[in-house]
Amino acid sequence: MGTICMMGRRHDSKRRGRFRRKAIFAAGVVLLEAVALRIRSGRLGGNVIVRCRRGHLFTTIWIPGGSLKSLRLGWWRFQRCPVGHHWSVVTPVKAAELSEQERRSANEARDIRVP
Ligand SMILES: [Zn+2]
Repeated sequence: MGTICMMGRRHDSKRRGRFRRKAIFAAGVVLLEAVALRIRSGRLGGNVIVRCRRGHLFTTIWIPGGSLKSLRLGWWRFQRCPVGHHWSVVTPVKAAELSEQERRSANEARDIRVP
C-alpha cells in the first residue's frame, strides 16, 4: 500500500517536472521574442511598423508568443505583405528611424486586424 502510494507520487512529480520544463521553455521563447521586438521596434507588442524584403512598410499587430497569421522566427516573421500583396519575411523597424512620409505610408498600410 505504502509503496504504491510512493510510486504514484514519484510518477506524478516527474510528470509535473516535465510540464514545468516545457512551460519554462515556452515562457523563455516568448520572453526572447518580446526582448527582440523591443530592441528592433522599441515596443513590446501591439501595432508595430514592419518592413518586408521588398522594402514595403506597413503596420501589423505583433504580440510576442501569439500569432495566427504568420510564421515567427524570432524577430523575423513570414507573413503576407498588404502593400505588394505577396508573402515575405518581415522585420520590425523603429518608427523613430523613419521619415515622416515613410511613417505615414506605414500607418496607412495595415494588414488584417488579427494578431
Ligand atoms: Zn511587400
